[in-house]
Amino acid sequence: MKIAFIGLGNMGAPMAANLIAAGQEVTGFDTAGIEVDGGASASSAPAAAKGAEVVITMLPNGAILRAVADEVIPAMASGALLLDCSTVDVDSARAVADQAEAAGLLAVDAPVSGGIGGAAAGTLTFMAGGSEAAFAKAEPLFDIMGQKAVHCGGSGAGQAAKICNNMILAVTMIGTCEAFALADKLGLDRQKMFDVVSTSSGYSWTMNAYCPAPGVGPQSPADNGYTPGFAADLMLKDLRLSQQAAESADADTPMGALAQALYATFVEDEDGKGRDFSAMLPRFEKRGRG
Ligand code: NAD
Repeated sequence: MKIAFIGLGNMGAPMAANLIAAGQEVTGFDTAGIEVDGGASASSAPAAAKGAEVVITMLPNGAILRAVADEVIPAMASGALLLDCSTVDVDSARAVADQAEAAGLLAVDAPVSGGIGGAAAGTLTFMAGGSEAAFAKAEPLFDIMGQKAVHCGGSGAGQAAKICNNMILAVTMIGTCEAFALADKLGLDRQKMFDVVSTSSGYSWTMNAYCPAPGVGPQSPADNGYTPGFAADLMLKDLRLSQQAAESADADTPMGALAQALYATFVEDEDGKGRDFSAMLPRFEKRGRG
């Protein structure tokens, strides 16, 4: 397939490399001048998109996605697919899909989970929103770049699934970390805490699979000095998107709002920037109630 890949950063470059390794014909464009081995490079986004059957975007945010969509949609042939894999706000995802469909194109929003490691290994999970026909066209590419793709519904449904999942993840991580910090102060051994909670009703992915306490549970970023993993800054981005969506849909999300405020303090006023999102545990363990 002839594919344009726009946005070749930490995620986009390895995803494009996997498409090339699978024999796809990829033309890339990134404003930072990044190129991918084995692929062609274009001098602009519309130049990359011209003649492509699929245009994949992997960009930082919704404003940039909208600007790129304005440029590439007129350059795309009728029936081609605009496949956005960035994490952006639901409103931007829907606006871009509407614009693409009005121009006779197919559109899918398909944010990913799995991070840079999953992008390199081709084991991402895609959460997709769009029509059946658009999803069907994207599926062979999901198979190359990932291990699982869930068709969540119409346009924006992929972004909605992603931010709801990550809101739960943030709230659960904070709960797990504050409980460890309390257990410390009560003199409870961390391993015993893990042994009980991981097999009791407080169990969760954050406790059982990604334990924030070093040396406890399976290998996780906590065992590597809290090097991400999933950076607190990226969690903050997703929490902001969840609260923006909650605002626009008039949904009451008090725990999500608190999680956003805590990660904002951690990343912007404390030492959370560049650390894994589970580094909330050393944050809590240093603090008292005051
Ligand atoms: P990144 O900043 O490394 O890459 C984004 C790239 O887009 C950069 O190389 C930048 O130069 C390029 N870019 C910006 N404006 C452009 C434009 N107008 N035209 C062409 N290229 C442009 O970010 P990333 O880590 O690769 O993340 C990409 C997206 O994936 C984000 O939406 C992020 O939230 C999401 N995501 C990231 C991770 C992760 O672990 N890094 C995990 C899941 C989802």
